[in-house]
Amino acid sequence: MPKVRRILCHVSVEIVERQRVCHRDRAGHTIRKGQSCLVVTDNANRSTKNYCPECAYAILDQAEADLNRMKTELEDVGTSA
Ligand SMILES: [Zn+2]
Repeated sequence: MPKVRRILCHVSVEIVERQRVCHRDRAGHTIRKGQSCLVVTDNANRSTKNYCPECAYAILDQAEADLNRMKTELEDVGTSA
């Protein structure tokens, strides 16, 4: 059985060791030492963006909705064939 390909390699959660700034609200959101944050890596320009837990939930909720929509699209095609 071939391994299932993982496609979310550019997204991870890290516990920060030094304070970071949330990319969504640089002035208002701080990620403090010991807090978790969502790290999104952009391989095209080799940059990473950090998001505080509050913003990370919104991003992951959107991703979940997108994944579910794609699953539904696959099912739609699958059943009409
Ligand atoms: Zn934030």
